[in-house]
Amino acid sequence: MKRAETGKAGAAPLDAVVIGGGPSGLAAGTHLARAGYTTILIERKALGGQARGLERIENYPGFPRGVSGLKLMELWLEQAWRWGLKTKIDEAVTVSRGTDGIFLVRLRKGGVIRSRSVLWCAGAGFRKLGVPGEDRLLGKGVWNTCDEAPSCAGLDAAVVGSGETAVQQAELLSRKAARVYLISRTEKLKAHKLLLERFARSSAAALPGYRVNRLLGKNKLEALELISVSGPREVKKIKVDALFTLIGKEPAEVPAGWRRKPAGFYEAGDFSAGIFRQVAVAGGDGIRAAMRCIRYLEAM
Ligand SMILES: Cc1cc2nc3c(=O)[nH]c(=O)nc-3n(C[C@H](O)[C@H](O)[C@H](O)COP(=O)(O)OP(=O)(O)OC[C@H]3O[C@@H](n4cnc5c(N)ncnc54)[C@H](O)[C@@H]3O)c2cc1C
Repeated sequence: MKRAETGKAGAAPLDAVVIGGGPSGLAAGTHLARAGYTTILIERKALGGQARGLERIENYPGFPRGVSGLKLMELWLEQAWRWGLKTKIDEAVTVSRGTDGIFLVRLRKGGVIRSRSVLWCAGAGFRKLGVPGEDRLLGKGVWNTCDEAPSCAGLDAAVVGSGETAVQQAELLSRKAARVYLISRTEKLKAHKLLLERFARSSAAALPGYRVNRLLGKNKLEALELISVSGPREVKKIKVDALFTLIGKEPAEVPAGWRRKPAGFYEAGDFSAGIFRQVAVAGGDGIRAAMRCIRYLEAM
């Protein structure tokens, strides 16, 4: 992996720093680097973001038979590096802007990047259930996405949520797991026709009209306590080894401390996408942010 010149006091600031190495960040960084702007991309976990963990993406244009998320992200990364985008595995812990208009991005492993602009492409995390046992069992049976979890082959798994991500995850899990439950407060699942049809054909069981009340298990998840959301109160206990909480996403705060975003600071991808969270949308949004950023840099 290539490394960039960073944090050198006295050296000329970079043109742009991109925070987040998912589709939006890679697309933004590639666009800037190709256009000739000195750019570094900072990623705290793995380049490719969430998309790299998707087993098969069927709706990304240009791949009639679908493509693995990892393969697609490897291609994006190859293109980014080919155009000279520098990448670094680290976490941006604070962003600030000096009176001279130069941004300072402080990194967890040490060092500060000075840059004329910042593109915040940090994605969004899944909302928590906020119930007893959730924090304690995170990573011990409680997961956000399949890529974080070990294979669920032969296990009993539950997915909480009623949207497309939850329906898709439940259907995918049902191909390997022994048993899969899809738990939702609402009766109606909010996914498009194709996903609903696949779900209906799968072995996954829908449990509508329930909320998770608490997670049970000492050192690992063992069961869920569910409570009915309407009608007479009904408490149900189901044995599960894995739980995926896919109840919507929430972008984390930009660690900046400013009230109004300054000129030269851009957001893109899942971080700012509302409900339109897709690889192609994130990539396009990253490019749009990069184009705006270039206009800003040119006018500086
Ligand atoms: C289960 C599931 C199924 C999906 N299925 C599809 C599908 O079929 N088709 C489709 O098009 N899309 C799908 N998506 C959505 C798609 O993965 C996302 O829309 C896309 O990855 C968003 O890209 P992004 O760059 O905005 O964010 P992300 O991919 O989340 O990337 C953000 C990156 O920023 C990094 N980061 C965060 N904070 C910092 C920091 N402070 N410093 C450094 N790095 C940081 C994170 O580690 C992460 O790698 C699915 C998502 C999930 C979870």
